[in-house]
Amino acid sequence: MFLAETSSGVVLIALLFGIGLAALVALKAREKGRSFGIWFAFALFLFLPALIAVAIIKPTKTCPSCAKAIPKAANICPYCGAAQA
Ligand SMILES: [Zn+2]
Repeated sequence: MFLAETSSGVVLIALLFGIGLAALVALKAREKGRSFGIWFAFALFLFLPALIAVAIIKPTKTCPSCAKAIPKAANICPYCGAAQA
């Protein structure tokens, strides 16, 4: 009985730890202009590929004129030509 309670506690801690790590990956992705929810789910199921992917994706922002994802460093939108702030 005691042993079963201990191992379920360990599983719970491992689960919370995994969710925390997935949230970190998702926060990093959001910082780069990606969707938090999609990256959270991605990191939850495939932590290592998500971690590698979030490290190599380029930061993007959304063009206020045409709403497309464009490079964060862009001064002019490559899709609609709108000047970026
Ligand atoms: Zn645009």
